[in-house]
Amino acid sequence: MGRPLELAFKTGWYIVKNKMMGRKRFPLVTMLEPLEKCNLACLGCGRIREYERVLDRTLSVEHCLAAVEESGAPIVSIAGGEPSLHPQIDEIVKAITAKKKFVFMCTNALLMERMMKKIPPSKYFCFVVHMDGMEEAHDKSVYRKGVFQIAMRGIRKALDEGYRVTTNTTVFNGVDEEDLVTMFKMLTDMGIEGCMVSPGYQFDTVPNQNLFISRQNARKVFRNILDPARNIRFYNNPLYLDFLRGDREYQCTAWSNPTYTVLGWREPCYLLGDRHTQDINDLFSEEMWSERYGVGNDSRCDNCLMHCGFESASIFGTFERPADALRLLKKGALQNSGIGTA
Ligand code: SF4
Ligand code: SF4
Repeated sequence: MGRPLELAFKTGWYIVKNKMMGRKRFPLVTMLEPLEKCNLACLGCGRIREYERVLDRTLSVEHCLAAVEESGAPIVSIAGGEPSLHPQIDEIVKAITAKKKFVFMCTNALLMERMMKKIPPSKYFCFVVHMDGMEEAHDKSVYRKGVFQIAMRGIRKALDEGYRVTTNTTVFNGVDEEDLVTMFKMLTDMGIEGCMVSPGYQFDTVPNQNLFISRQNARKVFRNILDPARNIRFYNNPLYLDFLRGDREYQCTAWSNPTYTVLGWREPCYLLGDRHTQDINDLFSEEMWSERYGVGNDSRCDNCLMHCGFESASIFGTFERPADALRLLKKGALQNSGIGTA
């Protein structure tokens, strides 16, 4: 099953409709975190550390659906924590896909085969498998031996059974660039829909801060690994890939990826959780985005190149640059608006 055309049409129409209604800020992807618990403890993970005191909490199916409804976005990225640990994850996915919304479920793949028994293949459902390198590098990043092989088995089986599969890779400081390229080529040859990439965000809660890469160094790495001559199938849209290489600049539009957690909506964004709110409208305030957050407004934003802040910015930017819109339409990449997680 390939990338459905319906996803691009629906997303495009949704954006145009919202613009015609005069909405300046609105959600494009709902980031839903039905729990923060995980069966791994990756070195660069901010979530399991930030939500340590509420790792035992889960969102009910009803809460998840209410958040998706409140946001109204056509795409839902389910993350966490490890979403497959939620006892009713299949009910959550089925209820959202029944509304013809597109679900991307991020997973470390440890329970992927179990998920396949509960969630059938559908054009509305896509696995996003966490892959940080070939075997040695990946197992080191997730801090457990054997995970790479389990993930590879899960991806092969999912493809064989007709699931949509993408991967998500976080680029850290000192990454072995050739190792990443080898992995991307292997995944492309296996027939996944595409590889998502993003630099790791510098979470304050992670003890080893040397893991995180500066904006400048990240762009050096991306200029190499995103070289079009390599023929790797990336899932991120081409304008965002230009941004990662440093060929264009955007201001962050993280308000388009509101994140609902066991404590409520994260404010201001998927990466920064200065507070949580129960009202999604708090995330669209003019003052917040013109003065308090984004590059140049908050030092914590200075090194950020994350897809949850800038991939949607590249899409919104096409309203000012028709040539960019054409480029996205040609690539069928309008829907790639910051789905992956950190
Ligand atoms: S990065 Fe993902 S897989 Fe790793 S500990 Fe965090 S939630 Fe779990
Ligand atoms: S620049 Fe990054 S950290 Fe700052 S608000 Fe945007 S997405 Fe969040």
